[in-house]
Amino acid sequence: MEAFVLPSYLDSSQRPFVVSGPCSAESREQVLETARQLKVLGRVNLFRAGIWKPRTRPHSFEGRGTEALDWLVEARQETGIPVATEVANAQHVEACLEAGLDVLWIGARTTVSPFAVQEIADALAGTKIPIIVKNPMHADLKLWMGAIERVAEKVGGPVWAMHRGFSSYGLKEYRNAPMWEIPIGLRAEMPEIPLLCDPSHISGNRSLIASVAQKAMDLGMHGLMIESHRSPDDAWSDAGQQLTPKDLDTLLDELTIRQSNVNPEQVDGLEAMRLQMDSLDEQLIELLHGRMDLAREIGRFKLEHGMTILQLERWHEVLKTRSAWGQNLKLGSEFTAKLLEQLHKESIRVQNEEMIKKK
Ligand code: PEP
Ligand code: MN
Repeated sequence: MEAFVLPSYLDSSQRPFVVSGPCSAESREQVLETARQLKVLGRVNLFRAGIWKPRTRPHSFEGRGTEALDWLVEARQETGIPVATEVANAQHVEACLEAGLDVLWIGARTTVSPFAVQEIADALAGTKIPIIVKNPMHADLKLWMGAIERVAEKVGGPVWAMHRGFSSYGLKEYRNAPMWEIPIGLRAEMPEIPLLCDPSHISGNRSLIASVAQKAMDLGMHGLMIESHRSPDDAWSDAGQQLTPKDLDTLLDELTIRQSNVNPEQVDGLEAMRLQMDSLDEQLIELLHGRMDLAREIGRFKLEHGMTILQLERWHEVLKTRSAWGQNLKLGSEFTAKLLEQLHKESIRVQNEEMIKKK
């Protein structure tokens, strides 16, 4: 089979470039059957499956390892769709190059470590295999760019970027917050690097994937990586966010691909700043939501312990610290004071609501 070459740039008429396949390769049958079902759609450009799975805690399924490389190669032989997997160290790279995989990607947990990325880049030196670099777990644009640069300096093939959202702690709508201003920032800084989006890992559940994919298309991203499985609910990893190939087909059918998307030149302009503002406002609202949820919880605690809602000492402390934070960041003092007053009023209101509910 001819070596598959990821184009270094896709024009908008070719969008979206579609990457799909299971989160993890679980068995030969599961890989082959999922690949067959995806083949029928006739619109999947690259088949994915994780073989070495970086898991947050030990003793969960950590991937089938090297034996699964053969399943990917067999899936390509049968379907003609090029195949990709995640690499996290030099041994992974060597095994994939030997097996003849078409594309490799660096996962978010690896992109955070310049040592690990450099080790991978060194192992790739002199090859032309296309590499996709996912964003790091946390919202650090420079770290993402650095990883892309480390790889691009060593490999002769195309390097693509992939936005998979950013980890955050506590209550949240998304498994990984999209923080669209970061991928927009990447396009502004590196307009020559094609950018894909991974709505599956941003969403963490099926219901959000379509809207995230649509947003990525509206922002002019080049492609989508969406996890699919022959039987999503039985998946050994990320069961809640995988789609059947048929549901993937429907999702792609329903996407609106506008031709006048934000292009890299526009990314410098007013439009880009507005998009960044939208994203910051979205995060502000989410944070406010989290703050009010906490206020409710505090309200319930106070009720249980017979405390009053208004604790003057605490309020003075809040006022003092927040005003100083605002001043340090050069926010107008009147603005900060008014904002804090509104926040306080709303916190008291929701705490009151909790108390009335319980009575
Ligand atoms: C994956 O694509 O399966 C994966 C582990 O993703 P991420 O590195 O984005 O968490
Ligand atoms: Mn996954």
